[in-house]
Formats: sequence, C-alpha cells, structure tokens
Amino acid sequence: DSKKRKRVDGAQNPRSQVQSQSPLAVKKQKLLQSRQNLPIWSRQRDIRNRLREHDILVLSGETGSGKSTQLPQFLLAESWCTGKIAVTQPRRVAAISLARRVAEEMGSPLGSSSPASKVGYSVRFDDNTSPGTKIKYLTEGMLLQEMLRDGTLSQYSCVVVDEVHERSVDVDLLLGFLKQLLESGKRRKPLKIVVMSATADVESLSEFFSTPMTKPEVSGDTSNGTVHGDDEEFNGFSDSEQPTPVEKKQVSTCRVEGRQYPVKLHYLDNPTEDVVDAALQRILHLHCKEPMPGDILVFMTGQEIIQGLQKLVEELAGNLPSEYPRLLVLPLFAALPQAAQQRIFERAPPNTRKVILSTNIAETSVTVPGVRYVVDTGKAKIKQYRNRLGLESLLVKPISKSSADQRKGRAGREAAGQCFRLYTQQSYGELEKDTKPEILRCDLSNAVLKMKARGVEDVLSFPFLTPPNREAMEKALLQLLLLGTLNEDGKINDIGRKVARLPLTPTLGRIVLEAARPERDCLLEVIDIIACLSVENIFQPTDTEEAREKALEARSQLHRRQGDHLTLLAAVQAYASETSDRKRWATDHLISHRAMQNVMNVRKQLIAQCKPLSPNPTIRSTTDEATQENILKCFLKGYHSNNIARLCPDKTYKTFAGNQTVAIHPSSVLFGRKVEAVIYNEFVFTTKAYARGVSAIQLKWLEDVWGSS
Ligand code: ADP
Repeated sequence: DSKKRKRVDGAQNPRSQVQSQSPLAVKKQKLLQSRQNLPIWSRQRDIRNRLREHDILVLSGETGSGKSTQLPQFLLAESWCTGKIAVTQPRRVAAISLARRVAEEMGSPLGSSSPASKVGYSVRFDDNTSPGTKIKYLTEGMLLQEMLRDGTLSQYSCVVVDEVHERSVDVDLLLGFLKQLLESGKRRKPLKIVVMSATADVESLSEFFSTPMTKPEVSGDTSNGTVHGDDEEFNGFSDSEQPTPVEKKQVSTCRVEGRQYPVKLHYLDNPTEDVVDAALQRILHLHCKEPMPGDILVFMTGQEIIQGLQKLVEELAGNLPSEYPRLLVLPLFAALPQAAQQRIFERAPPNTRKVILSTNIAETSVTVPGVRYVVDTGKAKIKQYRNRLGLESLLVKPISKSSADQRKGRAGREAAGQCFRLYTQQSYGELEKDTKPEILRCDLSNAVLKMKARGVEDVLSFPFLTPPNREAMEKALLQLLLLGTLNEDGKINDIGRKVARLPLTPTLGRIVLEAARPERDCLLEVIDIIACLSVENIFQPTDTEEAREKALEARSQLHRRQGDHLTLLAAVQAYASETSDRKRWATDHLISHRAMQNVMNVRKQLIAQCKPLSPNPTIRSTTDEATQENILKCFLKGYHSNNIARLCPDKTYKTFAGNQTVAIHPSSVLFGRKVEAVIYNEFVFTTKAYARGVSAIQLKWLEDVWGSS
C-alpha cells in the first residue's frame, strides 16, 4: 500500500525533493504525512474510478475525514479534468480557509498573488483567483452568480457541492440548476458533479439526481438579448425540448468511514438560566481539572455573546495560580478578520490550552485540531422568515438533535473526549431531529429572482430537494413584481435581469439600479451607503448613555439631520478623503477602522460591477439638497412599502405594511425626533419593535417614486 501511495504523489520522489527546496515545497512535503493519515486518503483510487464511470458521485463522510481538502486534489490528474474544479461552501470563512490550506498542501501560491497559483477562492466582494486557478473554492452564492453569466459552467470540468447537509437556500437552488443542466444535454464536455455531506443522507440525494424531471419545467428566456452567442450557453430549456433523464447508473454513492473515538456525554441535572455563566464555570473547571493536552471548543450563538464570554474567561484565567497551564481564548465567528480565523488551526503553544468560542461554524464547516472537550449551549442563530410581518430575522433557537450530535463528535476526532451539554437530557429529547432546510424558513425573493434570471418560468415546479411552501413562493413573486423586476405576467424584465446579476439582495440591487437612472444620477453615493450596509456596523457600539453621548460628540460633524443613510455617506466620504492617517481618523470618530477598510473594498468592487449600468457616473456634492433627496428616493424605491413607517396623531410611528407600532432605535441619529415619515433598513425586536438605520422622508415623494416604473 505504501508503494502505491508513493506513486500517487510525486512529492515522495527523492529526486523531486532535491529539485524543489522552495519554502512552499518544504511545507508541502511536511503536510503530506498528515494528508496521508486522513480517512479519505485510502479511498483515492476508488473515488477516481467511480467518477470515471459515473457523472455524479454522492459522498458522505464524517467532518474532518478529508473530503473538502483532498477530494478536489484527487481529481486533478484525471483525463476528463481539463477545466477547473469548483468547490462550493455555504460560508465564506470556510471557502477562504480551505483554499489557503489546499494551496499549502499543493505547494502553490494562493489566488491572485501569482500567475502560477493553482488554488484560489471567490467569495462576495473578494475574488482571489488567477488565470491558472484549477481548484476554486467559492461560496454557493458566487457559483450561482457565475451560472447566470455562463449558463453551462463551461470553464469547469467538475463541480463539488460541499456541506450539502447544511441545506442553505443557495445549495438547494444550485442542486436544482445542476440537475437541469445535466438533463439539458447542453454541455459539450462532460461535467462531473460530486455532492458531499457530513451526514448519511446519500439516498435522498441520489434519488434526487436519478429521478427525471417529469416535464420541461423551464422555458427558454432567449427573447431578451442576454443570451450570448456561445452555443454552450444555457438559460433553461426551450419549450419544445424534453429533458434527458439522468440514468440511475450515472449516480454513484459512497461513504467514507471516519475515525471517531468515544465521547462521554454529560447533561445538566436542571436547566440553567444563565448559559454564559454555565459555560464560564465549565471552561474553568475543565481547564483546572483535566489533563493536558486537550483543547476546549465551546458552541455559542453569536459574535457579541462570544466576545462577552471571551472577556470573562480571560479575566478569570489571568488570576489563576501560576502552576496551571495558560489558557488561550480564540473566538470564531463569520465576521472575524481572516488572520484571526487562521489562528484556530494552529496548535496551542507549549503549556497552553486553547479554548475556542465558536458559532455553529465549527459544527461541520471548519475542523479545529486538538479539541477533546466540547461545551454545547444547545442554541444557534437561525434565519427565520416571519410571513405575517414580511420580515426575515436571525433568531436564537434550540439546535436540532443532529446538530447536537455533530457538536459532540468534534470532541472525539483525535482521542477519546467529553461533551458537556448545558441543557438537560430531557431538553435534548425534545429537540427536533434535523434542522429544517433554510428554504422552508427564509424570504424567497432572492431565490425566485435567480430562478427567473436563469429562465425558469414556472418556479412552483422547479426541481427542489424540498419544495418550499407555496404561499412563501407567491409572496416572493409579489415582492419581485412590486420591485419592478418582473412583469405582470410573471416574466423577468430587463430591470430584474440586471438586479439578479448584482451580488446584492433584490431590494438593495433595485436601489442601486434606481440610482443609476439619469433622473436620480447618484450611483456612487448610493454605492457608498450600500457598502456600509454590507459590512458589520462601522460605528463602535454605544451600550451606555455615557458612550452614546461621547459618540455623538465625536461624530457630530458627520451627523446629517436627514438620518442614518446620509450620515453613513458622510462617514465614508470623510474617511475616503482622509489622506494622512485613516486609522487615527477612525479612532477619533469612534468608527471601526477595520469595518471601514471593508467598506472601501466592497465599494471598489460594487463600482466595478456597476460599470455596465453607468459607465461614467457623476460625482455629486452631497450637501446639495436635490442630491440628498434623490438618494433617499432610491432607497424608498427599493424598500417600497415594506420598510416605511409614518408618524400617527398619537406621535408613534406605524409601519405602512402591517400597521405595527415601531420606535426609532437609540443608535439612530433620528432617535427622539418626530418627522412625518421614515424609511429604515431593519426591523428588530429586542425589548420592543425598533427600526434601525432610519432616514426621514416626505410623503409627497411617494408618488414620484412609486408612480415611475
Ligand atoms: P472534511 O471536509 O471531511 O470535513 P477537511 O478536508 O475539511 O475534512 O479537513 C481535513 C483535515 O484538514 C482536518 O484535520 C483539518 O483540521 C485540516 N484542515 C482543514 N482546513 C485547514 C486549515 N485551513 N488549516 C489547517 N488545517 C486544516
């Protein structure tokens, strides 16, 4: 077996070792051994054979068995693999960290840093690939975008759809589109599809691909001139075409058995009121009582609670007597800067125990080495669409049994471990078996617009792994109609097609499009505001009255009486025109320098992507009242009646849709002010219903904005 291994990887050849002594090659050589120890390594030949004979492979295997990092590398040398390999991820954190890891394993520079790079990644607002990229890690959303531009994915020989068990809306759409593409017979060269999951749901996935669609559910959308001349272009079936069923034999299924050591489970005897305190006690207890090595992984719900706990743990750990090992606290959440994310993969320094405080990212997306103890709070933030309110929000909810079991499994990857559930055994018994797919609980307008843009006319009969609720689909269609992206007959129009190609929600996309119209002509300014809305909060949080006052003072020159949108714009413009020391400027204004750097990056990319809408946009003076009005009218256009409230005689604001009472959030520059009507970015419910990101509008604008198409 070892002889075979040597033949498989040229780096084992002593001659090649002598020739290539670059740091990249040395690192590659070092990593080879750990790659060879992964459970998937011994399955290389089998996997390659299966894909020679079948077009679709459904592969399940424990988290950490090597699927995401190794499988794409196995396929590179196959004769059918003349194009690129796309590997999709539900999370940008995972796409980036996998690309970085695989580049190291292959001894290749990463992404656009060198034309010789073979591995890259593409996530929203960050395309790090080179012309030579062979393996491209990308978010599901980015591959969907690519499919709108290149309907047959002609650059690719293989699409690996990873982490399917997470069942994001985007992955469900992607699976439907890929199935349609295979059945259309429109690819000149074969396209291999690998669907990977950490759970054993291979049967339903293989059924999905091998059951032919009963009728042509999509019709060509070729009348609009967006379809390019390339004969590989695919935008759905034309009416007369019948799909070619994928034959059963084309789908192969296999399971990679992982190595899992036993994990001892502990529950609380009684439910706890204060889960942060329970986690804190557990971490310190484990640290003081359990032998080294053995890192601790704690599952929490979100960034704020993680940072709060981090402070507490660090404080208490700092006061421990010196005979105890050190405790290194590392947070892990989506908005964490890349360098900090990378630290969780490094082994702890000598005489130090790592404690990783993570959202559900570490459940299956990212494997943290060294973990022997898992502390599970049993909760996660889950996206929820509330039909009645017409709102999508992130709510803290109990996880499912399968999530709880995945979390437990993280403790037994390298040795026997322990898992502490901060809830009772009875509560575990009451959890749902699986997490509901996102498509059953989110706003579908984005998904429906993408389907329409790809030529799917009858969205209700799209091949969904789990068909969404009909009412939610109809609601999405109505939203898109109101946004002016669909015609009365439900067909996508030119506006809709343009919006679909922007990496933004339909609402934000529509706002950008409005800004590019000659009547409004404020594209650059609207992009600046939208760039702010696409990153985390640029303003340092102000929890206390004192902090609020300090912030008000520091930012007083930036505040605009019209509200938060123009205030954001003023902040971006002031930051951008700061030539000496931007970091200092940010600190002085209680603004996050890091968030601002992100805003600058998103802004640059949005400007590039909006070039086709307006090749030479005018730079406007933002003190000009007409410009200010135009900017707010663009937002009004996109928010339509959803995010508007008017002042009622009782001096409260009531929403247009739903007539709900809503208060202006204390973080808003309009807090405490009474104006005739407001638009807002978000409706949040904390102690009461709040509108966040608020600007004043005039009711007389409505006709001008809604009267036009
Ligand atoms: P799977 O896809 O089956 O969950 P992966 O291929 O993601 O498995 O992971 C295989 C191994 O590679 C794991 O042991 C993991 O710790 C390691 N690994 C993955 N990504 C990184 C990274 N960015 N840095 C260091 N190690 C990594």
